[in-house]
Amino acid sequence: MRDLNALPKAHLHLHFTGSMRVSTLVEMAEEQGLRLPENLTDNVSLHVPADQRGWFRFQRAYDAARKVVRSEAAMRRIVRDAAEDDKREGSRRLEIQIDPTSYAPFVGGITPALEIVLDEAALASRDVGIEVGVIVAASRIRHPLEARTLARLAAKHAGDGPGHVVGFGLSNDERRGTTSEWSAAFNIARRAGIAAVPHGGELLGPDHLREVVAHLRPVRLGHGVRAAEDSDLLARIVDAGIAFEVCPASNVSLGVYAHQDEVPLRTLLDAGAQVALGADDPLLFLSRLTDQYNIARELGCDDYEIAMLAHSSISASLASEQSKRHWHDEIDAWLATPDTDDHAA
Ligand SMILES: [Zn+2]
Repeated sequence: MRDLNALPKAHLHLHFTGSMRVSTLVEMAEEQGLRLPENLTDNVSLHVPADQRGWFRFQRAYDAARKVVRSEAAMRRIVRDAAEDDKREGSRRLEIQIDPTSYAPFVGGITPALEIVLDEAALASRDVGIEVGVIVAASRIRHPLEARTLARLAAKHAGDGPGHVVGFGLSNDERRGTTSEWSAAFNIARRAGIAAVPHGGELLGPDHLREVVAHLRPVRLGHGVRAAEDSDLLARIVDAGIAFEVCPASNVSLGVYAHQDEVPLRTLLDAGAQVALGADDPLLFLSRLTDQYNIARELGCDDYEIAMLAHSSISASLASEQSKRHWHDEIDAWLATPDTDDHAA
């Protein structure tokens, strides 16, 4: 079996604070004399049984981690670490997702909060040697008017390269709010050339996904896995060319599926879906990008299928066509290398 860290890939579903290493979080907390809840530092992955309400425990842990991120230096470090970690795992392109509102109070507003992240994304891209694009994500727990403000801010920084806003998302508890009320914000982003990449089809099933698709017109779905419950809907999403950001470890940790064998990766692939595997929140799930490809392998994907997943991740990224061609060639080269295990046998 070929080395999965050596497989070129794109990472399209990673949240800003959730990307942190546990060690970085601990260090930052100590510097500020802040106490962290034990479940953030015990090196045990957050895990909520499927029959319990997982989201709230997740949100509490995430909020506790976010409280530690209160300076420009901390924000820059998170972007830098994420780029370095991704690089080690073969990522050529990271599209990191942030709601600048959460960090605005500590750096003088949402504009500087976003500009810090964009600036560090550009610097990290240059120094680390991967492309880091930024997705501005509105939150379902805030008023849709705030999302419009964020979309207008994102529009000022639109582009496809490092240090630009490449996507506009909608995150947090999927059960909150009325999806159609966010369509205006997505229209503002779309007019600026920014791709729509909202969450959907994780905590809620096909009916909700239909609304997300109709009102927000995504090019990618954060998760979207619950489309597997409705073959007509799945076919429509695939035909529309909408890609899926599938995060298996996250799904299991949050109890969307009781076990990784239930993650419907095979169903999506058999339907012709374009799937990009992502880690979502490695800080809480203790599972990074390459781990997701390992799970795909455990779910029965051979190296050809694994390479196709990486191929899809790059196709579904918002990188330039030139970058995509180059990385696709690199994936072909990975697949062309001899399988070392075969040799040993
Ligand atoms: Zn997410």
